[in-house]
Amino acid sequence: MAYFNRAHNRIRTIDLTFSAALLLLTVMLFLSYHIRTELAQTNDWTQHTYDVIMAVDELSNGLLQAESSRRAYILTGNTQQKARCELFAQKTEENLREVLQLTTDNPSQQQRLARVSELINRKLAIFRLSITEYDRRGYRAPQQAQLTEEGTTLMTAVRVRIDEIKDHEKQLLGERRSKEHTTLLVLTIVVLSGISIAIILLSLSYYIARHESRSHLIATGDLQAANKDISDLSNMTQLLQSCATLDEARGILSCYGEKLFPDDAGAIDLINASRTLMTDSATWGAVNLAPFTPDQCWAMRLGQAHASVAKSDVQCQHVEGRTGTHLCIPLAAHHETLGSLYLHVPRDIEQDELARRKARATAFAEQVALGIRSLQLREQLRELSIRDPLTGLLNRRHMEESLLREISRATRTNQPLSVIMLDVDHFKKFNDAFGHEAGDHVLKEIGQVLQKNVRDSDIACRFGGEEFTIILPDADCDMAFEIGNRIRDAVKGLHVIVGKQHLGRISISAGVAVFPVDGDTLQQLLSMADEALYEAKEKGRDRIEGSCAATKGHDGGASQA
Ligand code: GH3
Ligand code: MG
Ligand code: MG
Repeated sequence: MAYFNRAHNRIRTIDLTFSAALLLLTVMLFLSYHIRTELAQTNDWTQHTYDVIMAVDELSNGLLQAESSRRAYILTGNTQQKARCELFAQKTEENLREVLQLTTDNPSQQQRLARVSELINRKLAIFRLSITEYDRRGYRAPQQAQLTEEGTTLMTAVRVRIDEIKDHEKQLLGERRSKEHTTLLVLTIVVLSGISIAIILLSLSYYIARHESRSHLIATGDLQAANKDISDLSNMTQLLQSCATLDEARGILSCYGEKLFPDDAGAIDLINASRTLMTDSATWGAVNLAPFTPDQCWAMRLGQAHASVAKSDVQCQHVEGRTGTHLCIPLAAHHETLGSLYLHVPRDIEQDELARRKARATAFAEQVALGIRSLQLREQLRELSIRDPLTGLLNRRHMEESLLREISRATRTNQPLSVIMLDVDHFKKFNDAFGHEAGDHVLKEIGQVLQKNVRDSDIACRFGGEEFTIILPDADCDMAFEIGNRIRDAVKGLHVIVGKQHLGRISISAGVAVFPVDGDTLQQLLSMADEALYEAKEKGRDRIEGSCAATKGHDGGASQA
C-alpha cells in the first residue's frame, strides 16, 4: 500500500514538473515572439532615424550644391551651372518635402522643419533672384554681394536648424539603440533563464520517472517473487493436506524448503511428545544438526524469530560456533509450539536481505506449522477411530478392514495367513469377584501382552468384550500355534495387582483358522477361528484349538503351560 502511495506521489510530481516545463516553454515562446516583434519595431525606428538624418544631410548637401552652382554661374556665366543650380534647388525642395514627410510623427521636428522650410524657401528665392538679376543686368557686384551676404546669413541659420534637427534625431537614435540593447538583453535573459529552468524541470521529471521505473521494476520483481512464493506455499499446503502421515510429509517439506531457500541450508525440527527433544523431520542443503533440547534454541524459548548474523550476535546453542547467518523461527499453530524452522546462510548478510528472508521464512513456517498440526490432528483422529481406548489395540472395524486387505494380499502372493481368536477364561467370575475396574485392568494388561508378542506386520485387535483377534500375515498353522501359545503363556505369567489385591492367575483360550485351508473369506476365517475357540472352551479352556491342529499334531492344551 505504501509503495502505491509513494508511486502515486511520484507520478504527480512528474506530471507537475513536466507540465511546468511545458508551460514555461510555451510562455517563453510567446514572450520571445513578442520581444522579437518589439525588436523589429525598434529596428524600424532606428532605420527611420537614419533615413531622416540621411534625408536632412541630403537637404543640406543639395542646398550647398545649389549655392556653389549659383556662385559659379554668377562668376563664369556658364549656363550649365545655372541649370545645375536650378536642379539642386528643385532637389532641395523635394528633399524638404521628404524630410517633412518622414517626420510627420514628430511634432517638435515638424516645428523645426517649418522654420527650416521658411529659411530654405527664402534661400532658394534669393538664388533665383540672384540668377534672374544676373541674367537681366549682368554681373553687378553690390547687388550680388548683398544677395550673397543675405544668402550666407540664411545658410548659417539653415545649418543651425538642420543641426538641431539632426541632434534631435541623433538623440532619438541613441534612445532607440539603448531600447534595442535593453530589449536584446531582456530577450537573452528570458530565453536563457527560461531554457535553463525548463531543462532543470525536464531533467527532474526524467530523473523521477527513471527512479520510478526502477522502483517499479524492483516492485514488479518483488511481486513476482511473492506470487511465486504464494503459489509454492499453496502447492505445499495442498500436498501436505493429502499426506496421511508425518513420514510422508518429510519429503514434501524438504522439497519446498529447497525451492524457497535454494541458497540456504535448512531444517524443520519437531518437538517430541514429552517436549524434551527437538529432532529434524525434514532437511535441505548441507545442514547437519544433532537433536537438541528446546532450551538450546532462542526462538523456542522466546516464542519468536531469532537471527544471528555477526559473531557478536547471540547465537542459539544448537548452532554455536558455526559461521554465517542463522535464523530460527518457531512453528506455532493453534497456540501450540510444534518445533522450529532453522535456516543457515553460509555468510553474513545485510539487514535488508535478512528482513526479506525472515518474511519469506515466517510465511513458510506458518504454512508448515498449520500443515504439520493438521497432520498430527488427522493422525490422532485416525488413531482414535481405529484404536480401542481401553487396551490401545486396534478395534474390530479396523481388524476387519485389515483382514480383507491381508486376504487379498495372501491370495495374490499365494502365502498363508492365520487368524487367532482369543477369549479370557471365566472372565465374568473375575469381574464379579474383583469388580469391573479390576476387570478393565486385566484387559489392559492382556492388550500389552498381545502387542509385545506379535511381529510388526501382525495386527492385534480387541474384537469386543474380553475377546481378541490376531491376524498373522504369512503365518501358517505352526506359527499361529507358536504365537498363540506364547501369548497364552505370557498371560498366565501375569501378576495383576489392583490396589493391594493380587487378582490371581489369568488364562485364555484360543482358536486358530488358516487361509486358505479353513476358508478364503473374512466370514469363513472368523467363523472357523470362533468354532475352534469354542472347541478350546469345550475341551477345558486354557488351550488352543484349530482344524489344522489335528493334521499337524498340535497339542494346544493346558499341558503346554
Ligand atoms: P468363558 O470362560 O466361557 O469365556 O466365561 P466368561 O465368563 O469369560 O464368559 P462370558 O461371555 O459369560 O462373560 C464375559 C464377561 O466379560 C461378561 C462381561 O461382564 C465381561 N466384560 C465384557 N466386556 C468387559 C469390559 O470392557 N470390562 C470388564 N471389566 N468386563 C467386561
Ligand atoms: Mg467371551
Ligand atoms: Mg470369556
